[in-house]
Amino acid sequence: MSNSHRICRVLLIVSAFVWVLCPAAKSQASAPAAKKLKIYISVDMEGVAGVVTGDQLGPGGFEYERFRRFMTNETLAAVYAANHSGATEIVVSDSHGNGESLLIEEFHKDIRIVRSWPRHGGMMAGLDSSFDAALFIGYHASTTNMRGVRAHTFSSAHLTRVSLNGNAVTEGEFNAAYAGALGVPVIFASGDDAGMEELKSRLGNIETVETKKNLSFHSAETLTPEGSCERIGAGVKAALARLHDFKPYVIKTPVTLEISFKNYMPAQMISYLRSVERVDSHTIRFVGKDMAEVSDFVDVVDGYSPDLTP
Ligand SMILES: [Zn+2]
Repeated sequence: MSNSHRICRVLLIVSAFVWVLCPAAKSQASAPAAKKLKIYISVDMEGVAGVVTGDQLGPGGFEYERFRRFMTNETLAAVYAANHSGATEIVVSDSHGNGESLLIEEFHKDIRIVRSWPRHGGMMAGLDSSFDAALFIGYHASTTNMRGVRAHTFSSAHLTRVSLNGNAVTEGEFNAAYAGALGVPVIFASGDDAGMEELKSRLGNIETVETKKNLSFHSAETLTPEGSCERIGAGVKAALARLHDFKPYVIKTPVTLEISFKNYMPAQMISYLRSVERVDSHTIRFVGKDMAEVSDFVDVVDGYSPDLTP
């Protein structure tokens, strides 16, 4: 067992005590009339401290098993901070790769976890207007950013640009617009410096934690897992302490979505649908009545294949 594992173990045990002793957790059991505070946490992986290549990002990578623990710990740091700040209900969505990266047994029994795909709402599945705030963990820059570790938007394999109402977006901005349509503000995000800069430039003064400074697509100067957990905990507390400063990120409807593909054929084939317009050789345009429809459209475009089973 490595030192960092041991430290994380200790952190988890201490945090579990915090949860047990925390007034919010108690009031949940004994005083259901206490003021509710529902928090939604969407978790990606590219922005987790230490992640620099595919070696950390999927079941085939030699470091994946360790890094899904680090991803889980960064999420737990946000969960504990939210709970400490009075959260009465927390939903966590496992929103990277196969949607099965988080170690669900490490979470408190009252947490609910959204896993796997497909799911309406994508990386924000399970969110509704009853939530008070959304947090992003492990987020990253967009595919149109010239900087950023593993910068991409939804699919690094297939897409070169995703835009909403004419502006190229990060996954974070797209998801914030989805949440904004439900009246839920995004108040905190963690990830690499380029991703956080890009997100702040659109969402305004949300709390962020830079888990690493990008040096290239596949290199970074990074915090340690323990260092990032500590900062994420502090950042989430700071965000929740000024919850009323944040407004939902609302974009104009109907929403014009454009998707540019790496390859020519997807743009050509999808434009056979009468609701889709071919904008150029690699780009299609779809107008959805709201973010929910646009989100479903992205899921179909990126997730459908005729050999899907079962
Ligand atoms: Zn992502």
